[in-house]
Amino acid sequence: MKIAIIGTGYVGLVSGTCFAETGIYVTCVDIDHSKIEKLQNGIVPIYEPGLEDMIRMNVEKERLFFSTDIQKSMLKCDAVFIAVGTPADEDGSADLQYVLAAAKDIGKYMSNYLVVVNKSTVPIGTSIKVRDVIKKELSLRKVNLEFDVASNPEFLKEGAAIQDFLKPDRIVVGVESERAEKILQRLYKAFLLNGHPMLIMDIPSAEMTKYAANAMLATKISFMNDIANLCEIVGADVNMVRQGIGSDSRIGSKFIYPGAGYGGSCFPKDVKALIRTSDDNNYSLDVLKAVESVNIRQKRVISTKVKTHFNNDLKGKIIALWGLSFKPKTDDMREAPSLVIIEELLNAGAKIQAYDPVSMNEAKRKLGDTIEYSETMYEALIDANALVVVTEWPEFRVPNFKMMRKLMKEKIVFDGRNIYDPQEMKDNKFTYSSIGRKTVQP
Ligand code: NAD
Repeated sequence: MKIAIIGTGYVGLVSGTCFAETGIYVTCVDIDHSKIEKLQNGIVPIYEPGLEDMIRMNVEKERLFFSTDIQKSMLKCDAVFIAVGTPADEDGSADLQYVLAAAKDIGKYMSNYLVVVNKSTVPIGTSIKVRDVIKKELSLRKVNLEFDVASNPEFLKEGAAIQDFLKPDRIVVGVESERAEKILQRLYKAFLLNGHPMLIMDIPSAEMTKYAANAMLATKISFMNDIANLCEIVGADVNMVRQGIGSDSRIGSKFIYPGAGYGGSCFPKDVKALIRTSDDNNYSLDVLKAVESVNIRQKRVISTKVKTHFNNDLKGKIIALWGLSFKPKTDDMREAPSLVIIEELLNAGAKIQAYDPVSMNEAKRKLGDTIEYSETMYEALIDANALVVVTEWPEFRVPNFKMMRKLMKEKIVFDGRNIYDPQEMKDNKFTYSSIGRKTVQP
């Protein structure tokens, strides 16, 4: 089988590589010439564990190609996937300009029957818009080519994207024709062999499933953050509470870890877009509106704690910051809590020395020379008045406390991810403040 994937970002590149891994011929297409040039030269533009090796192997086997030429890439394809970005527009709705531009290109250049599969996260009804755009282009060309549209939302998690794609909890497919369904069944056959289900449904339900899934996950996070803040006020320990509720099989232990708020390229924009869809349909998704406002507040919890500790005067204070990406194992900093924390601390006059295992280049691109960049996690601590842990990278979990104490001017740690044990911090003579637990003093 042969497919093209339009949009070679986190989703397009991982999906394309994983499809190629199963023997399908894949061309990943992008309008970003420098990205494609890098990939053609063996340079992977994003950090995703295991991806580089997998790309190299499939390129060597001549199953995976990269191109900016959409016309050539679509030749004799069974399906074309749209995996371009759908960022939030100013009013919170999903900005569909990239999806519709991709659809336009498909209509302009397709030369045989295709299933046009939308993998981008898009509002309900987008497939109709995609179909209309393609039809219009075909009629301008005065050709009468058949095609189907389908929805196939993606559920991969950055940082574990390959495993998620190869062993999905489920594959959701929205189709309108048997022909399209058969092609998608065949494309995904290799991923279904171990019993992972493919859920076939109508297109609006598939489009809605993606938003509902992300909204549910964001709800779990905001709920737990809200409970954590209350725990701190009333003297309960949220870690205990989390275990207490997580062992209830109706609730489950995943996604109930309190922290510095959710970020990334998906949750914030998808929550916004779903709220917008409901408002546009004269229905108010009140739960989700609260989820969003709790998250906005949560991103400021740690910076507020730091400011309160130093009596709102951070002039001349050095704050070390561990972790810049929105979560571990990715270099993605879109909507990362670190950005809000840094802005708040800089505004209060602090100097920031930051370290992240993989996001330093991305941080430099986003933050320029507003902060200092450290080569190691320990270099960031030199003369620091406090350390703020923002992302729970594994290498931060068992640090050398003795070295930390030696390097830091004041032995204070603000932990936005609850990765340390308060008693251990006390024993190691740190003032330790975390989320939803009592602050301990040495
Ligand atoms: P991304 O920003 O990493 O990549 C998008 C790519 O599309 C870019 O390289 C861009 O240059 C390219 N592009 C834009 N317009 C194009 C066009 N007309 N033709 C060819 N290429 C074009 O985005 P992403 O994170 O991969 O997300 C893509 C979609 O998948 C979004 O809708 C997102 O919500 C959804 N999604 C993302 C994730 C994730 O973890 N990143 C997970 C599930 C779903």
